Amino acid sequence: MNTLVWFRRNLRVAGNPALYAACQASMQEDGAVAGAFFYDAQYTGEFRFAGERMPRCGKLRAGFLWQSLLNLRNNLQQIPLIVQRGEAAGLLVELCQQLDIQEVHTQKLWAHEEQFVAETVRSTLAAIGITLVEHECYTLLPSAIVTAKHPDALSSFSKFRRKVEREVEQSAEVAIHSLVNNPTAAQQAMLQEVAALGENRTESPIPSAEVNEPRSVLPFVGGESAGQERLNQYCQQALGHYKETRNGLIGADYSSKLSPWLNLGCISPQQVLHAVREYEHRHGANASTEWLIVELLWRDFFQYLAAKRGSALFYGRAEPMGSSGAEKSGSVSAVSDTVLTDPSLYGTKAAEFAQWRTGTTESEFINANMRELNSTGFMSNRGRQNVASMLIHDLHIDWRWGAAWFEAQLLDYDPGSNYGNWQYIGGLAANPRGGSWFNIEKQANVYDTDGAYRTLWAQRRKE
Ligand SMILES: Cc1cc2nc3c(=O)[nH]c(=O)nc-3n(C[C@H](O)[C@H](O)[C@H](O)COP(=O)(O)OP(=O)(O)OC[C@H]3O[C@@H](n4cnc5c(N)ncnc54)[C@H](O)[C@@H]3O)c2cc1C
Repeated sequence: MNTLVWFRRNLRVAGNPALYAACQASMQEDGAVAGAFFYDAQYTGEFRFAGERMPRCGKLRAGFLWQSLLNLRNNLQQIPLIVQRGEAAGLLVELCQQLDIQEVHTQKLWAHEEQFVAETVRSTLAAIGITLVEHECYTLLPSAIVTAKHPDALSSFSKFRRKVEREVEQSAEVAIHSLVNNPTAAQQAMLQEVAALGENRTESPIPSAEVNEPRSVLPFVGGESAGQERLNQYCQQALGHYKETRNGLIGADYSSKLSPWLNLGCISPQQVLHAVREYEHRHGANASTEWLIVELLWRDFFQYLAAKRGSALFYGRAEPMGSSGAEKSGSVSAVSDTVLTDPSLYGTKAAEFAQWRTGTTESEFINANMRELNSTGFMSNRGRQNVASMLIHDLHIDWRWGAAWFEAQLLDYDPGSNYGNWQYIGGLAANPRGGSWFNIEKQANVYDTDGAYRTLWAQRRKE
């Protein structure tokens, strides 16, 4: 039996249950395996803000993705990887017919659009007698633990953490499989068939660029190999002081910087957990090692919250919290269901939005963060919280414009983590304080005491 792996955000060979299952199924019946990745509307689509058009996947994110796909193709060795532009359902039907595929294995994802795409694929393939099998390999904890055992845990992170923290070790027991690379005659024939289709792209299907900015916290390079290297490097030493440095702004090691690789699945949260446990074995556990796992739970929390909220993750109006500069909480109402493309709603805010996104506001701290984002595809967690707070609570701009800008720019963009964190700051989801409103000046003074970060990014990128 021939099988196909529809790669989504699991761009790795090691510890990839979808790839493993496809290999097992094909080996049992003397068949072959192929892989495919599709640049669908999530990558090729556009946003419109007050008449302006902007790609959903900006050049830097596209560059990181393309590097990850090239690395995957290399690591898959005898398994061909087909990369096409278009919607998965139609393309998969064609490929399955061309390559005589009987089973498609893929990754289970949690956000609304991702689930919708999977359901469309499932029914389209079923119509031609092909089964779609989804494998959970994006979160640390399996959904069975979260949704079945603790269905009410998603109302707040602290509740979620209390309920699931003890279960984390179960996840560590998931075996890290590696692909048995022993090409059979059928596999060699598959390679030739794919070659005959002429599917060997050498360029990204969408405009892309590499991170080429000396001030970048890391020279981010996409792919499983670079992700593993960063994980190993971070867990040599820096992990040991994570809790003290995680609110930093400058340099490679104030935090792990693993998110871009985690969110394309170049590395898995289980691999991170495993590396943390190995560090503890060598140096002993401390508050920092524990805290990195807590952050992985935040990541899980936003995945399962995304699944629960469905399309509501992308809608709702966040009410600005008051009008003076103090940090405080307030109430919100989720009412508006307008879409990002509605130019009338926030048309008058176009100028403020342009200042925010280009880093030309009155706040040098905000500007520094936005400049870093735009020229490197990364921003610290402290920075993200502040720029989001400013957009929502000080500038009174629709939060979805900010979230969409992040979607385009962030190397680590993930729908659950991005829209979930924006909703959290806007007070639309899971925030027991009803939103987060920061005093930007105060934050700048606490976290950039000597102004080094503002100085570093005082100059915009030289073109
Ligand atoms: C408005 C806003 C938007 C965000 N958008 C994204 C996004 O699109 N993708 C994304 O991965 N993170 C997002 N975050 C969360 C967080 O800022 C990043 O995960 C973190 O900065 C990545 O850097 P790191 O890998 O060095 O994190 P570390 O501090 O080293 O944490 C380790 C890992 O834990 C996870 N993590 C940590 N904090 C969070 C969090 N608040 N929510 C979810 N996961 C978390 C990440 O996977 C991260 O790699 C957003 C936060 C805010 C406030």
